[in-house]
Amino acid sequence: MIGGGAGRWESHGAGSHAPPDEIMNAPDLPLRSIDELDFDNSFARLPPRFYTRLAPWGLPEPRLVAASTEAAALIGLDDGALATPDALQWLAGNRVPAAADSLAAVYSGHQFGVWAGRLGDGRAHLLGEVRGDAGPWELQLKGAGRTPYSRMGDGRAVLRSSIREFLCSEAMAALGIPTTRALAIVGSELPVQREETETAAVVTRMSPSFVRFGSFQHWAAADDIDALQALADHVIDRHRPALRERPDPVDALLRDVAQRTGELLARWQAVGFMHGVMNTDNMSVLGLTIDYGPFGFMEGFDGGHVCNHSDSAGRYRFSHQPRVAHWNLLALAGALLPLLDGDRERARAAVDDVYGPAYDNCFARLMGAKLGLAGAADEALLVGLYGLLQRSRCDYTSFFRRLSALPAMAADAAGGRHDAPLLDLCIDRDECAAWLREWRARLATDARPDAARQAAMRRCNPKYVLRNWVAESAIRAAREGEYGELRQVQRCLARPFDDQPEFDHLAAPPPDWAAQLEVSCSS
Ligand code: AMP
Ligand code: MG
Repeated sequence: MIGGGAGRWESHGAGSHAPPDEIMNAPDLPLRSIDELDFDNSFARLPPRFYTRLAPWGLPEPRLVAASTEAAALIGLDDGALATPDALQWLAGNRVPAAADSLAAVYSGHQFGVWAGRLGDGRAHLLGEVRGDAGPWELQLKGAGRTPYSRMGDGRAVLRSSIREFLCSEAMAALGIPTTRALAIVGSELPVQREETETAAVVTRMSPSFVRFGSFQHWAAADDIDALQALADHVIDRHRPALRERPDPVDALLRDVAQRTGELLARWQAVGFMHGVMNTDNMSVLGLTIDYGPFGFMEGFDGGHVCNHSDSAGRYRFSHQPRVAHWNLLALAGALLPLLDGDRERARAAVDDVYGPAYDNCFARLMGAKLGLAGAADEALLVGLYGLLQRSRCDYTSFFRRLSALPAMAADAAGGRHDAPLLDLCIDRDECAAWLREWRARLATDARPDAARQAAMRRCNPKYVLRNWVAESAIRAAREGEYGELRQVQRCLARPFDDQPEFDHLAAPPPDWAAQLEVSCSS
């Protein structure tokens, strides 16, 4: 593991999958109104013990806080279609579309490494799926009331956490990172009690599937092998039909999940994303980022950073994320054991053969691209880089963006030097200068002209990520009923790699008022 722990999983292997097309591409459908959406619900065709059919409670006097044009386009909707009074009632859970089949799904999981037993959609209603050009998208209302899986919870989500989930889902998609999507947020004056009294909101989430590792764990724990098989068949036939042709489709599914999870984790580490609550019920079997809670993007680099204030042991600290994902995959493998002839060696091999190489290969490739190298990044260069970042606590996003502007030669023909903006980020300028010499030695093997390399680096080193202080500032305004700032942030983060001078302030490290911001599990 490289300094700061963002580095390699283990040093072997290759193999790569592109991110799923349905996440990356908007379909080319004629735009339609929300009433024309045609719902199916294939999850509802699983046996009844998989879910409880029920209508959402809805929200009194809802108002549209924000909508995502990009997510709307995935299901062929004009975002104007979300601004109608009918749409508002629907997005609030006050009126269930006639063709929908609203349900809450059951799942279980390990929370902070401890078996938590039955969890389930305690505040989410799956309406069903809507066909987009690139495949079906399940639509889910989060925060629209209690379900049989709510335990002690109120079935609600507060505006604060809903804005964070909305902004980050769409920002991750724009960064090219597999994720669930967010179609809209509606808010209401309905009071919700957390550490203080807040107000309720509903986020409409979209995903090809919301099945989690914990969905399989649930049936394994119940020793219900028929259900386990039915769920595996559902995921394979619905989402990974090519695996049906393999000699052992369940083994192939586990390997597929390990591959995609490895690549997802490499993308998180490369961009500096911290999930915050990597419980097995928050891990998607499609390898998507799911369940945005106390997440964060790395600012002043610290491999040991814990973004979730409730995670006192630091289980989900940045540097641990790849190991936690492996642990979670082994939990999934354990759950699938009955479908793998109870063969522990085989289940473990399905994870271990695939996960480490998938992570290593993808991470080295992504870091090579971030550093402007023609190929993958080598370990020596990365060890030096992470040591430098850690000791200097450099702002992670700014470091790579400023690096993207540097020429391959340390000094130009007139003797001019260009490194100052990067050196300024580092406490130890000499260490930074020494690392830059190493970096330039690698660049020398690449024949690309500066302009082409710099443009390529800007396309993989975002200028804008969802910084906590940026989210917090938009949330404070939205709580006062002022949504302009939130929509500006959303607009900025839709093009994270483009220089947008009007949004320069959003690329800045936290201002003084936000230096001590803390984010907890409370949502
Ligand atoms: P999370 O930490 O958001 O992933 O949630 C873990 C579990 O708690 C899931 O089963 C959620 O549905 C449930 N949950 C979280 N918050 C609430 C709430 N306010 N009301 C009901 N269930 C909740
Ligand atoms: Mg969850």
